[in-house]
Amino acid sequence: MTERVYNFSAGPATLPVSALEQAQSEMLNYKGAGMSVMEMSHRSKAFEAIIGAAEADLRKLLNIPENYKVLFLQGGASLQFAMVPMNLLPKGKSADYILTGSWGQAAIKEAKKLGSAREAATTADTNFNRLPKPEEIKLDSNATYVHFTSNETIFGVEFNEEPSAGDVPLVCDMSSDFISRPIDVSKYGLIYAGAQKNAGPAGATIVIIRDDLLERVPANAESLPAMLNYKNLAKNGSMYNTPPCYAIYICGLVFKWALNDIGGLEKIHAMNKEKAKILYDAIDSSDGYYRGHAEKDCRSLMNVTFRLPSEELESKLVKEATAAGLDGLKGHRSVGGLRASIYNAFPKAGVEKLVEFMNEFQKNNG
Ligand SMILES: *Cc1c(COP(=O)(O)O)cnc(C)c1O
Repeated sequence: MTERVYNFSAGPATLPVSALEQAQSEMLNYKGAGMSVMEMSHRSKAFEAIIGAAEADLRKLLNIPENYKVLFLQGGASLQFAMVPMNLLPKGKSADYILTGSWGQAAIKEAKKLGSAREAATTADTNFNRLPKPEEIKLDSNATYVHFTSNETIFGVEFNEEPSAGDVPLVCDMSSDFISRPIDVSKYGLIYAGAQKNAGPAGATIVIIRDDLLERVPANAESLPAMLNYKNLAKNGSMYNTPPCYAIYICGLVFKWALNDIGGLEKIHAMNKEKAKILYDAIDSSDGYYRGHAEKDCRSLMNVTFRLPSEELESKLVKEATAAGLDGLKGHRSVGGLRASIYNAFPKAGVEKLVEFMNEFQKNNG
Protein backbone atom coordinates (compact mmCIF):
# COMPACT_ATOMS: atom_id res chain seq x y z
CA MET A 1 0.00 0.00 0.00
CA THR A 2 1.70 3.17 -1.16
CA GLU A 3 -1.18 5.56 -0.50
CA ARG A 4 -3.31 6.24 2.53
CA VAL A 5 -6.56 4.29 2.43
CA TYR A 6 -10.01 5.50 3.46
CA ASN A 7 -10.12 4.13 6.98
CA PHE A 8 -13.65 3.45 8.25
CA SER A 9 -12.43 1.89 11.51
CA ALA A 10 -14.57 2.51 14.59
CA GLY A 11 -11.51 3.29 16.68
CA PRO A 12 -8.65 3.95 16.75
CA ALA A 13 -9.71 5.90 13.73
CA THR A 14 -8.77 8.41 11.06
CA LEU A 15 -6.93 11.50 12.30
CA PRO A 16 -6.55 14.84 10.50
CA VAL A 17 -3.65 14.55 8.05
CA SER A 18 -2.42 18.02 8.99
CA ALA A 19 -2.11 16.97 12.63
CA LEU A 20 -0.16 13.86 11.63
CA GLU A 21 2.09 15.95 9.40
CA GLN A 22 2.78 18.42 12.16
CA ALA A 23 3.61 15.58 14.55
CA GLN A 24 5.90 14.17 11.87
CA SER A 25 7.72 17.46 11.44
CA GLU A 26 8.13 17.81 15.21
CA MET A 27 8.99 14.18 15.81
CA LEU A 28 12.73 14.48 16.39
CA ASN A 29 12.98 18.00 17.70
CA TYR A 30 9.91 19.59 19.23
CA LYS A 31 10.04 23.37 18.71
CA GLY A 32 13.77 23.57 19.37
CA ALA A 33 13.67 21.49 22.57
CA GLY A 34 16.17 19.14 20.96
CA MET A 35 14.02 16.11 21.69
CA SER A 36 10.72 14.47 20.80
CA VAL A 37 7.58 15.03 22.89
CA MET A 38 7.89 11.29 23.56
CA GLU A 39 11.21 11.81 25.31
CA MET A 40 10.35 14.89 27.29
CA SER A 41 9.77 15.15 31.04
CA HIS A 42 6.12 15.71 31.87
CA ARG A 43 7.36 18.27 34.40
CA SER A 44 9.20 20.28 31.72
CA LYS A 45 8.09 23.77 30.70
CA ALA A 46 7.57 22.54 27.15
CA PHE A 47 5.18 19.78 28.19
CA GLU A 48 3.34 22.03 30.63
CA ALA A 49 2.70 24.32 27.67
CA ILE A 50 1.46 21.35 25.59
CA ILE A 51 -1.07 20.12 28.15
CA GLY A 52 -2.05 23.69 29.02
CA ALA A 53 -2.77 24.51 25.37
CA ALA A 54 -4.66 21.23 24.85
CA GLU A 55 -6.92 22.05 27.79
CA ALA A 56 -7.38 25.71 26.76
CA ASP A 57 -8.26 24.73 23.18
CA LEU A 58 -10.70 22.05 24.31
CA ARG A 59 -12.35 24.57 26.66
CA LYS A 60 -12.72 26.98 23.75
CA LEU A 61 -13.99 24.32 21.37
CA LEU A 62 -16.68 22.99 23.72
CA ASN A 63 -17.24 26.28 25.51
CA ILE A 64 -16.62 24.58 28.86
CA PRO A 65 -17.74 26.75 31.79
CA GLU A 66 -15.30 27.77 34.53
CA ASN A 67 -16.87 25.48 37.11
CA TYR A 68 -15.74 22.34 35.28
CA LYS A 69 -12.37 20.62 35.49
CA VAL A 70 -10.82 18.96 32.45
CA LEU A 71 -8.78 15.84 33.12
CA PHE A 72 -6.54 13.85 30.77
CA LEU A 73 -6.48 10.32 32.16
CA GLN A 74 -5.65 6.79 31.07
CA GLY A 75 -7.54 3.51 31.04
CA GLY A 76 -10.01 4.38 28.30
CA ALA A 77 -13.74 4.85 28.61
CA SER A 78 -13.81 1.37 30.11
CA LEU A 79 -12.02 2.53 33.23
CA GLN A 80 -14.54 5.36 33.53
CA PHE A 81 -17.28 2.70 33.70
CA ALA A 82 -15.76 1.87 37.09
CA MET A 83 -14.39 5.25 38.18
CA VAL A 84 -17.73 7.01 37.84
CA PRO A 85 -19.48 4.78 40.42
CA MET A 86 -16.34 4.55 42.60
CA ASN A 87 -16.35 8.31 42.96
CA LEU A 88 -20.00 9.28 42.62
CA LEU A 89 -22.08 6.37 43.87
CA PRO A 90 -21.95 6.19 47.66
CA LYS A 91 -23.41 3.35 49.73
CA GLY A 92 -27.15 3.73 50.24
CA LYS A 93 -27.57 5.60 46.95
CA SER A 94 -28.50 4.35 43.51
CA ALA A 95 -27.58 5.39 39.97
CA ASP A 96 -29.75 5.19 36.83
CA TYR A 97 -28.51 3.84 33.50
CA ILE A 98 -30.19 4.35 30.14
CA LEU A 99 -29.09 1.43 27.98
CA THR A 100 -28.92 1.95 24.22
CA GLY A 101 -26.29 -0.63 23.41
CA SER A 102 -23.28 -2.67 24.44
CA TRP A 103 -21.36 0.23 25.93
CA GLY A 104 -24.16 1.18 28.30
CA GLN A 105 -24.46 -2.48 29.26
CA ALA A 106 -20.74 -2.61 30.00
CA ALA A 107 -21.02 0.56 32.08
CA ILE A 108 -23.89 -0.68 34.27
CA LYS A 109 -22.15 -4.03 34.75
CA GLU A 110 -19.21 -2.26 36.37
CA ALA A 111 -21.47 0.00 38.43
CA LYS A 112 -23.32 -3.02 39.83
CA LYS A 113 -20.05 -4.45 41.13
CA LEU A 114 -19.49 -1.27 43.09
CA GLY A 115 -22.94 -0.23 44.28
CA SER A 116 -26.59 -0.05 43.41
CA ALA A 117 -27.41 0.67 39.76
CA ARG A 118 -30.80 0.55 38.01
CA GLU A 119 -31.75 0.09 34.40
CA ALA A 120 -33.89 3.17 33.77
CA ALA A 121 -34.53 2.14 30.17
CA THR A 122 -33.27 -0.33 27.62
CA THR A 123 -33.87 -0.95 23.94
CA ALA A 124 -32.35 -4.44 24.00
CA ASP A 125 -35.72 -5.87 22.85
CA THR A 126 -35.16 -4.43 19.36
CA ASN A 127 -31.41 -5.12 19.30
CA PHE A 128 -30.67 -1.49 20.12
CA ASN A 129 -31.87 -0.10 16.81
CA ARG A 130 -33.59 2.87 18.42
CA LEU A 131 -33.62 5.21 21.42
CA PRO A 132 -36.11 4.82 24.26
CA LYS A 133 -39.06 7.20 24.03
CA PRO A 134 -39.19 9.72 26.89
CA GLU A 135 -42.10 7.81 28.47
CA GLU A 136 -40.07 4.60 28.42
CA ILE A 137 -37.36 6.13 30.60
CA LYS A 138 -38.26 5.43 34.23
CA LEU A 139 -36.04 7.67 36.27
CA ASP A 140 -35.53 7.57 40.01
CA SER A 141 -35.64 11.17 41.23
CA ASN A 142 -33.33 10.21 44.11
CA ALA A 143 -30.70 8.74 41.82
CA THR A 144 -27.21 10.04 42.37
CA TYR A 145 -26.69 10.38 38.60
CA VAL A 146 -28.20 9.30 35.28
CA HIS A 147 -25.76 7.66 32.88
CA PHE A 148 -26.26 7.49 29.11
CA THR A 149 -24.22 6.88 25.96
CA SER A 150 -24.66 9.80 23.57
CA ASN A 151 -23.63 7.76 20.55
CA GLU A 152 -23.78 3.98 20.44
CA THR A 153 -20.73 3.15 18.40
CA ILE A 154 -21.67 -0.48 17.77
CA PHE A 155 -25.36 -0.15 16.87
CA GLY A 156 -25.18 3.31 15.32
CA VAL A 157 -27.82 5.15 17.35
CA GLU A 158 -27.22 8.67 18.62
CA PHE A 159 -29.13 11.02 20.90
CA ASN A 160 -29.91 14.33 19.19
CA GLU A 161 -30.69 15.84 22.52
CA GLU A 162 -29.81 14.94 26.08
CA PRO A 163 -32.43 12.85 27.92
CA SER A 164 -34.01 15.06 30.55
CA ALA A 165 -33.03 14.03 34.05
CA GLY A 166 -34.48 16.85 36.14
CA ASP A 167 -32.09 17.83 38.91
CA VAL A 168 -30.18 14.57 38.75
CA PRO A 169 -26.73 15.10 37.20
CA LEU A 170 -26.24 13.63 33.73
CA VAL A 171 -23.17 11.49 33.25
CA CYS A 172 -22.37 10.80 29.61
CA ASP A 173 -20.10 8.39 27.79
CA MET A 174 -19.35 10.62 24.81
CA SER A 175 -16.48 8.52 23.46
CA SER A 176 -17.67 8.25 19.89
CA ASP A 177 -19.28 11.64 19.29
CA PHE A 178 -17.03 13.82 21.42
CA ILE A 179 -16.36 17.21 19.75
CA SER A 180 -18.48 16.16 16.76
CA ARG A 181 -21.13 18.85 17.34
CA PRO A 182 -21.83 21.73 19.70
CA ILE A 183 -23.20 20.72 23.10
CA ASP A 184 -24.22 22.67 26.18
CA VAL A 185 -21.71 21.36 28.72
CA SER A 186 -23.64 23.01 31.54
CA LYS A 187 -26.35 20.36 31.12
CA TYR A 188 -23.90 17.68 32.26
CA GLY A 189 -22.40 16.69 35.58
CA LEU A 190 -19.68 14.61 33.99
CA ILE A 191 -18.62 13.80 30.42
CA TYR A 192 -16.01 11.21 29.54
CA ALA A 193 -14.52 10.07 26.27
CA GLY A 194 -11.77 7.74 25.17
CA ALA A 195 -9.73 9.83 22.74
CA GLN A 196 -9.36 7.29 19.95
CA LYS A 197 -12.62 7.97 18.09
CA ASN A 198 -12.68 11.72 17.49
CA ALA A 199 -10.09 13.38 19.68
CA GLY A 200 -6.76 11.69 19.09
CA PRO A 201 -4.91 8.41 19.51
CA ALA A 202 -5.66 5.69 22.04
CA GLY A 203 -4.08 6.20 25.44
CA ALA A 204 -5.72 9.40 26.60
CA THR A 205 -9.18 9.59 28.16
CA ILE A 206 -10.82 12.95 28.66
CA VAL A 207 -13.03 13.63 31.67
CA ILE A 208 -14.95 16.89 32.13
CA ILE A 209 -16.40 17.12 35.62
CA ARG A 210 -18.45 19.84 37.32
CA ASP A 211 -17.00 21.14 40.58
CA ASP A 212 -19.97 20.15 42.73
CA LEU A 213 -19.65 16.55 41.55
CA LEU A 214 -15.99 16.63 42.42
CA GLU A 215 -17.08 17.70 45.89
CA ARG A 216 -19.30 14.64 46.06
CA VAL A 217 -16.31 12.32 45.91
CA PRO A 218 -17.01 10.87 49.32
CA ALA A 219 -14.90 11.66 52.35
CA ASN A 220 -13.95 8.02 52.53
CA ALA A 221 -12.37 8.55 49.12
CA GLU A 222 -9.20 8.23 51.17
CA SER A 223 -9.91 4.56 50.68
CA LEU A 224 -9.97 4.96 46.88
CA PRO A 225 -6.68 4.28 45.15
CA ALA A 226 -5.03 7.62 44.35
CA MET A 227 -5.09 6.93 40.61
CA LEU A 228 -8.85 6.34 40.66
CA ASN A 229 -9.79 9.39 42.71
CA TYR A 230 -11.09 12.33 40.60
CA LYS A 231 -10.34 14.80 43.38
CA ASN A 232 -6.76 13.71 43.59
CA LEU A 233 -6.34 13.72 39.81
CA ALA A 234 -7.93 17.16 39.50
CA LYS A 235 -5.86 18.60 42.33
CA ASN A 236 -2.73 17.48 40.51
CA GLY A 237 -3.79 18.85 37.12
CA SER A 238 -3.92 15.34 35.55
CA MET A 239 -0.27 14.87 36.59
CA TYR A 240 -0.46 12.87 39.79
CA ASN A 241 1.67 10.44 37.86
CA THR A 242 3.13 10.51 34.35
CA PRO A 243 0.23 11.31 32.03
CA PRO A 244 -0.07 9.88 28.48
CA CYS A 245 2.13 12.72 27.22
CA TYR A 246 2.31 11.90 23.52
CA ALA A 247 -1.39 11.10 23.24
CA ILE A 248 -2.23 14.41 24.93
CA TYR A 249 0.07 16.22 22.50
CA ILE A 250 -1.75 14.67 19.51
CA CYS A 251 -5.15 15.48 21.05
CA GLY A 252 -3.91 19.07 21.33
CA LEU A 253 -3.06 19.11 17.62
CA VAL A 254 -6.52 17.73 16.80
CA PHE A 255 -8.21 20.42 18.94
CA LYS A 256 -6.18 23.10 17.12
CA TRP A 257 -7.21 21.61 13.78
CA ALA A 258 -10.87 21.63 14.83
CA LEU A 259 -10.66 25.23 16.01
CA ASN A 260 -8.38 26.85 13.47
CA ASP A 261 -8.48 24.75 10.29
CA ILE A 262 -12.18 23.87 10.44
CA GLY A 263 -13.51 26.75 12.50
CA GLY A 264 -15.24 25.12 15.46
CA LEU A 265 -17.99 22.67 16.27
CA GLU A 266 -20.81 24.29 14.26
CA LYS A 267 -18.72 23.78 11.14
CA ILE A 268 -17.69 20.27 12.16
CA HIS A 269 -21.31 19.37 12.81
CA ALA A 270 -22.35 20.65 9.39
CA MET A 271 -19.60 18.57 7.75
CA ASN A 272 -20.63 15.50 9.73
CA LYS A 273 -24.29 15.93 8.78
CA GLU A 274 -23.36 16.30 5.13
CA LYS A 275 -21.17 13.19 5.11
CA ALA A 276 -23.74 11.05 6.94
CA LYS A 277 -26.53 12.21 4.63
CA ILE A 278 -24.62 11.10 1.54
CA LEU A 279 -24.32 7.60 2.96
CA TYR A 280 -27.82 7.28 4.42
CA ASP A 281 -29.32 8.60 1.18
CA ALA A 282 -27.46 5.89 -0.71
CA ILE A 283 -28.81 3.25 1.69
CA ASP A 284 -32.36 4.60 1.44
CA SER A 285 -32.33 4.79 -2.34
CA SER A 286 -31.08 1.22 -2.84
CA ASP A 287 -34.59 -0.32 -3.05
CA GLY A 288 -33.95 -2.25 0.14
CA TYR A 289 -30.67 -3.80 -1.03
CA TYR A 290 -28.90 -1.95 1.78
CA ARG A 291 -30.84 -1.80 5.05
CA GLY A 292 -29.88 0.56 7.84
CA HIS A 293 -29.87 -0.97 11.32
CA ALA A 294 -30.87 2.14 13.28
CA GLU A 295 -34.30 3.76 12.99
CA LYS A 296 -34.19 6.93 10.95
CA ASP A 297 -34.85 9.42 13.74
CA CYS A 298 -31.84 8.34 15.78
CA ARG A 299 -29.29 7.48 13.12
CA SER A 300 -25.74 8.17 14.18
CA LEU A 301 -23.73 10.76 12.28
CA MET A 302 -20.59 8.89 13.31
CA ASN A 303 -21.22 5.16 12.84
CA VAL A 304 -23.42 4.10 9.94
CA THR A 305 -24.57 0.50 10.41
CA PHE A 306 -26.25 -1.44 7.62
CA ARG A 307 -26.95 -4.89 6.25
CA LEU A 308 -27.04 -6.51 2.83
CA PRO A 309 -29.42 -9.23 1.60
CA SER A 310 -27.11 -12.01 2.86
CA GLU A 311 -24.04 -12.57 4.99
CA GLU A 312 -22.23 -13.91 1.94
CA LEU A 313 -22.76 -10.61 0.14
CA GLU A 314 -21.67 -8.71 3.24
CA SER A 315 -18.37 -10.61 3.38
CA LYS A 316 -17.91 -10.17 -0.34
CA LEU A 317 -18.48 -6.42 -0.14
CA VAL A 318 -16.04 -6.02 2.76
CA LYS A 319 -13.40 -8.00 0.90
CA GLU A 320 -13.78 -6.11 -2.35
CA ALA A 321 -14.01 -2.75 -0.60
CA THR A 322 -10.79 -3.42 1.28
CA ALA A 323 -9.05 -4.23 -1.99
CA ALA A 324 -10.35 -0.91 -3.36
CA GLY A 325 -8.82 1.07 -0.50
CA LEU A 326 -12.00 1.28 1.62
CA ASP A 327 -10.80 -0.24 4.86
CA GLY A 328 -12.45 -1.28 8.13
CA LEU A 329 -16.07 -1.70 7.02
CA LYS A 330 -16.85 -4.98 8.74
CA GLY A 331 -19.59 -4.47 11.32
CA HIS A 332 -19.44 -5.50 14.96
CA ARG A 333 -20.54 -9.12 15.49
CA SER A 334 -23.52 -8.06 17.65
CA VAL A 335 -25.12 -6.28 14.68
CA GLY A 336 -23.48 -8.06 11.80
CA GLY A 337 -23.30 -6.45 8.41
CA LEU A 338 -21.29 -3.34 7.84
CA ARG A 339 -20.31 -0.30 9.80
CA ALA A 340 -18.83 2.81 8.26
CA SER A 341 -17.33 5.01 10.96
CA ILE A 342 -17.05 8.53 9.62
CA TYR A 343 -15.74 10.64 12.47
CA ASN A 344 -14.73 14.31 12.24
CA ALA A 345 -11.48 13.74 10.38
CA PHE A 346 -12.90 11.24 7.89
CA PRO A 347 -12.93 12.96 4.48
CA LYS A 348 -16.10 13.51 2.48
CA ALA A 349 -14.31 12.16 -0.60
CA GLY A 350 -14.05 8.80 1.19
CA VAL A 351 -17.80 8.72 1.79
CA GLU A 352 -18.43 9.55 -1.87
CA LYS A 353 -16.07 6.81 -2.94
CA LEU A 354 -17.86 4.32 -0.72
CA VAL A 355 -21.25 5.28 -2.16
CA GLU A 356 -19.92 4.88 -5.69
CA PHE A 357 -18.53 1.50 -4.71
CA MET A 358 -21.83 0.42 -3.10
CA ASN A 359 -23.85 1.40 -6.17
CA GLU A 360 -21.49 -0.54 -8.40
CA PHE A 361 -21.57 -3.53 -6.04
CA GLN A 362 -25.36 -3.58 -6.06
CA LYS A 363 -25.39 -3.50 -9.85
CA ASN A 364 -23.03 -6.44 -10.02
CA ASN A 365 -24.57 -8.46 -7.21
CA GLY A 366 -28.22 -7.36 -7.18
C1 LIG B 1 -14.96 2.76 22.12
C2 LIG B 1 -15.97 3.02 23.16
C3 LIG B 1 -15.77 2.61 24.49
C4 LIG B 1 -14.57 1.83 24.92
O1 LIG B 1 -13.48 2.66 24.97
P1 LIG B 1 -12.08 2.20 25.53
O2 LIG B 1 -11.33 3.49 25.48
O3 LIG B 1 -11.56 1.16 24.61
O4 LIG B 1 -12.26 1.70 26.91
C5 LIG B 1 -16.74 2.93 25.40
N1 LIG B 1 -17.85 3.61 25.05
C6 LIG B 1 -18.06 4.00 23.79
C7 LIG B 1 -19.32 4.75 23.45
C8 LIG B 1 -17.13 3.72 22.80
O5 LIG B 1 -17.35 4.12 21.54
